[in-house]
Amino acid sequence: MTKSEAHDLERRLLNAIRRGASMEDIAGLKHADVGSPEAAIQALRDGNVRFFSGHSSRPELGANERRAQIMGQTPFAAILACSDSRVPVELVFDQGFGNLFVVRVAGNVMGESGLATLEYAILHLDIHLIVVMGHEGCGAVSAALMSEEQIEAEPPALRALIRRIQPSLQGLPPIRDKKARMREAVINNVRCQVGVLREQDVIARAEASGKIRVIGGFYEIGSGAVDLLVEEDELKV
Ligand SMILES: [Zn+2]
Repeated sequence: MTKSEAHDLERRLLNAIRRGASMEDIAGLKHADVGSPEAAIQALRDGNVRFFSGHSSRPELGANERRAQIMGQTPFAAILACSDSRVPVELVFDQGFGNLFVVRVAGNVMGESGLATLEYAILHLDIHLIVVMGHEGCGAVSAALMSEEQIEAEPPALRALIRRIQPSLQGLPPIRDKKARMREAVINNVRCQVGVLREQDVIARAEASGKIRVIGGFYEIGSGAVDLLVEEDELKV
């Protein structure tokens, strides 16, 4: 969304609130252009381009839109991302309040609470897209590459999280360049988490029906760019 589009949206929202519009009317105004998985992918791509090119629309927004949001939320995508402080999901995709439903956990690994959160987003919030997003320099993925001895020295819960990343790092091609090797490890972890998500009933059914898509992403800290892994051969482990 450009700045003038954002202003136009805010003006239309204000008018809608003044005429006593319903929650549905307001949701329709907000996401008229994000009604399918493809549109959701495009919205994230566009937002990321604005972000990394220094043209973010900064949609923190005014009091009117915030007021409209008291009535409910209508996010168009759910993102399973890492807790890393350098990966603020809404900023990276230049999305405002109410647009993204975000799960953040070290190493963007799927766990029970994360699954429940995504199921809620599919069944009750009508999202169109799930993105599992890894990132450059992920500490959790690095931890999974540590020696057994080092991993055993960590407390049980942290160890368990590392164990969920480990399978995705087995059989990686030998890459000499450290940065390229880490990128491959992170992306393979993303692919594995996408695979785990797709084994879950609610997610599998929603994807089979065409209601949602599950894709991957890799955020490069240095450039600010997100590479979305959309095609099936990019998502294969
Ligand atoms: Zn991370």
